[in-house]
Amino acid sequence: MVYDLVLKKGTVVEPHQVSICDIAVKDGVIVEIAPSIDMEDVQVVDLEGKFVLPGAIDVHVHFNEPGNVEWEGIETGTKMLAAGGVTMYFDMPLNSDPPTINVPSLQLKEKLSKEKSVVDYKFWGGLVPDNIGELEALAEKGVIGFKAFISNSGFEPFSSVDNQSLLIGMKEIRRLDKILALHAESDEMTSFLQAEKIADRKLTPKDYCESRPIAAEVEAVVRALSYAEITGCALHFVHISSPEAVQIIHEARGRGLDVTLETCAHYLLFNDEAFEEHGVFAKCAPPLRPPSVQNELVALLVEGKIDFITSDHSPCSPHLKDLSKLNFFEAWGGISGGQYTLLAMLKVAKEKDLPITKVAELTALGPAERFGITQKGRIANGYDADFAVVEEVPFVVTKGNMMAKHKQSIYAGYEFPHSIVATYCRGKKVF
Ligand SMILES: [Zn+2]
Repeated sequence: MVYDLVLKKGTVVEPHQVSICDIAVKDGVIVEIAPSIDMEDVQVVDLEGKFVLPGAIDVHVHFNEPGNVEWEGIETGTKMLAAGGVTMYFDMPLNSDPPTINVPSLQLKEKLSKEKSVVDYKFWGGLVPDNIGELEALAEKGVIGFKAFISNSGFEPFSSVDNQSLLIGMKEIRRLDKILALHAESDEMTSFLQAEKIADRKLTPKDYCESRPIAAEVEAVVRALSYAEITGCALHFVHISSPEAVQIIHEARGRGLDVTLETCAHYLLFNDEAFEEHGVFAKCAPPLRPPSVQNELVALLVEGKIDFITSDHSPCSPHLKDLSKLNFFEAWGGISGGQYTLLAMLKVAKEKDLPITKVAELTALGPAERFGITQKGRIANGYDADFAVVEEVPFVVTKGNMMAKHKQSIYAGYEFPHSIVATYCRGKKVF
């Protein structure tokens, strides 16, 4: 066999070992991993002194195309992910418009992604109160799972589920053998608290955070877990922000429920003090928590109680963050950070002395195993040649190297200890 590409002398991160070796690629697939691979007439890339990690899988991004391409779009969004070492993403059913809640909207998104994406992808279908009858067809057309909001989604074309439709939807998703991803915050509690704040003209970032307390996340998680118990539906909790919710989900898994959770890089790297410097660019839901909560969340990650890390990349046009025209509650909530998930995990791992294999597990293997992506998630023979090449040279985020469409992010000015130097997706250099 004549190989297409040989990566030489990289420090290769396999699931249970790290070693300096060569990797050979043929037709986009890893075909040999060995201490030394020598062959004539093959493209050779010298990676001495650099780590070779499996391409990251980000299961939670919002590219907003079609419909809101001025917020991000597939082309800029996927180039941004490639610059962050990500080789596969799962796009959320919103804030594309139409949202992905039936087959025509899925097919439209598929067509656009095929034309524009520089990395691989899957799509979430949406579960909304009036589309239960669409779920089977969406599953047949290949959605990775379904996403629903217990709280208000903030995006009018995508309704949150009431308890009745959540139960019916979960029963159907169980029948279809899919996973339901949930944004878990109590709508009753957050709506009530938000209305009180706005009535009292209490409109600061602190007021916003107080309107979405940890209790609202915990209540929604507990409710969804009890629904999972009676329907048998597999659950994945997105962007969990509190140690309380992590513990409850972990205990539920201990009793045999099929449930996982992600947290996002921004809950690990930032806390509510970030509003001082970054203002509305630090707004997300659930909100950033106090430093003590952030530290506890990182400790739970170190303990192994968090399944994987995502970006929840959710950017918007600058005018939707304009506080001269909007109050803090009205401004769009969403962090632009899809480029930094792997860098964030490398930083946490360095600070907490976690092995680099753990970084690969939290950014690639964990998501691949949870969602049945059998050809990705690890560097091994027969798997896709998806690599993030990393070196331990500091990387400072600037407007110049920020690849998202809009250069406004909580990550502006942030320094990471590592840099992504190249990304390969099925053997092709995409960054
Ligand atoms: Zn999201």
